[in-house]
Amino acid sequence: MITLISNKGEEKNIDSLNGDSTVRDALMHLAPEDSEKLPKNFVAGKVNGELKDLSSALGTSEAKVEAVVIDSEDGIEILRHTTAHIMAQAVVSLYKDTDLTIGPVIENGFYYDFDTPHNFTPDDYKKIEDKMNEIIKANYPISREDISKADAKKRFASEKYKLEIMDGIPDDSVSVYKQGDFEDLCRGPHLPSTGYLQAFKITSTAGAYWRGDEKNPMLQRVYGTAFPSKKDLKSYLTMLEEAKKRDHRKLGKELDLFSTSEDIGSGLILWHPKGARVRSIIEDFWKKEHYKNGYSIINTPHVAKVDLWKKSGHWDFYKENLYSPMDVDGQDYIVKPMNCPFHIEVFNSNLRSYRDLPIRYAELGTVYRYERSGVLHGLLRVRGFTQDDAHLYMRPDQLEDEIRKVLRFILYILGSFGFNSYDMYLSTRPEKSVGSDKDWERAETALKNALTSEGLDYIVDPGEGVFYGPKIDIKIKDSIGRSWQCSTVQVDFNLPERFDLNYRDEEGGETRPVMVHRALMGSLERFFGCLIEHYSGAFPLWLAPVQVKVLTVTDRTNDYAEEVASKLLEEGVRAEVDKRNEKLGLKIREAQLEKIPYMVIVGDNDLNDKTVSPRSRDKGVMDAMSLEKFMELVAEENVVGGVK
Ligand SMILES: [Zn+2]
Ligand SMILES: [Zn+2]
Repeated sequence: MITLISNKGEEKNIDSLNGDSTVRDALMHLAPEDSEKLPKNFVAGKVNGELKDLSSALGTSEAKVEAVVIDSEDGIEILRHTTAHIMAQAVVSLYKDTDLTIGPVIENGFYYDFDTPHNFTPDDYKKIEDKMNEIIKANYPISREDISKADAKKRFASEKYKLEIMDGIPDDSVSVYKQGDFEDLCRGPHLPSTGYLQAFKITSTAGAYWRGDEKNPMLQRVYGTAFPSKKDLKSYLTMLEEAKKRDHRKLGKELDLFSTSEDIGSGLILWHPKGARVRSIIEDFWKKEHYKNGYSIINTPHVAKVDLWKKSGHWDFYKENLYSPMDVDGQDYIVKPMNCPFHIEVFNSNLRSYRDLPIRYAELGTVYRYERSGVLHGLLRVRGFTQDDAHLYMRPDQLEDEIRKVLRFILYILGSFGFNSYDMYLSTRPEKSVGSDKDWERAETALKNALTSEGLDYIVDPGEGVFYGPKIDIKIKDSIGRSWQCSTVQVDFNLPERFDLNYRDEEGGETRPVMVHRALMGSLERFFGCLIEHYSGAFPLWLAPVQVKVLTVTDRTNDYAEEVASKLLEEGVRAEVDKRNEKLGLKIREAQLEKIPYMVIVGDNDLNDKTVSPRSRDKGVMDAMSLEKFMELVAEENVVGGVK
């Protein structure tokens, strides 16, 4: 019997289908009565979990067949994948001597790598898109053919990349997809015909080596994207434009927040005075809140003996991310990639009793990890970064309560920085893992219960936990709807074993504590990058590196401006004076570009009346007022999280 599952989750059992019936035949039973055609948004089927073309035979008469609609996750992937083929068809028909390689789907789109003498530039996009539109208009049916590898090798004898790809396929048969006069080797599935494509765009090009290896020929990679509707495409493109304006690398330079230097090395961040000012505000807030929440803050070294990393397992399992050892008095040391073993040593420095637990050690710990230069990206992927790390040691019965506290703490901290929308993921036991069934079961239950009792919605990622324990990851959503992975809470059954952690239990025996790693912001570098983009560089008053800029109108008000600024500084307001002999209009424009929350203009009238004339970044020009009144106003707004 075939059980059909509609895109809305409704089930329907059908006896009349057999293995020769196609996915289309099966899904027709989900179409409205009397309709002769499948609804246009049905683009493929999932037969016992495997994606198949509408034209594919079910191959079995016992199956669950799910309808795949174009605006589902699977549907969008099929749509983008098919678009890559349509683009390839357009490119080979436009540019002679082009060899095809591969065209996978990636996040938010797809690419195709071409070996071609032609150098693609943005001028070519329109030409390729026009050709693609012709192919779409022709509405070629897309058909699949399964042939033997030997036949395929004959058919594609002149295409060296396809021959190489086929050598890597273990099966004896391969599938070939055809649309019009264009054929490509592919596993599929695809849209039923080219006319299904409604909204697409070529977005960029780049050079890329075949199989990512610099010894191989340089190919041309053309990126594009596709969406189920023109409206979806448009809002994605608008978001891209907006993201470009907010790019933290661009704003970091314009606002003089941070930089990197070739002489220092890639992925190593220099925090400039204004960036460092924001960082110190974040750190002060972080420390204060950690003390409030019962944490002890500790400091640990930047290097340690290799033996420590052998004991922790990092040396064996994490080697490709470690920097080479340095010799100190005949002993090998490495810079730390993690803080965990250090915190464990602090725990182990004393005999702990059940009464001491939980113990919570926190550190803004700077670590260094090797990342390939190709993946480095501004503040987001770096080689040196400071984790807002903490390790919690507790009795097994305290786990659920501790996780609840951590979750509450995370949401409070994220909310203070303006992140109030997030997705939570609970990752459970992977295939390869350490720790007993009982440990895993208990820890997963504790994490689940903690999430539920805090009223938090979460998505389970089965088998995606770390080998040493289950975890909760939190992805925050920024002001333009993008997701950023920041917070993580991970139970660890491994390190307590390796370092033989114990506490004296109530019976006077020794018991292993449960250990939890957690980070709220993740790394300060990454979090700062995320903050810059979230606020588009216009930090709320409590985070702004310069809060008030005092602008003089003429030289006559210079002394008064200095007086105003020093009073502000005395009150702890971060103020600067601009008394350059420039036009006021220019000074205002520059302060606006610096995205400073308040300008205070002091003219002759202000000097005479002992007033200031504020101009707010958000509220515009304000009436002249006494300095005291202005300072009250600033104090009111200058609170963590800003005024709600
Ligand atoms: Zn394909
Ligand atoms: Zn850790």
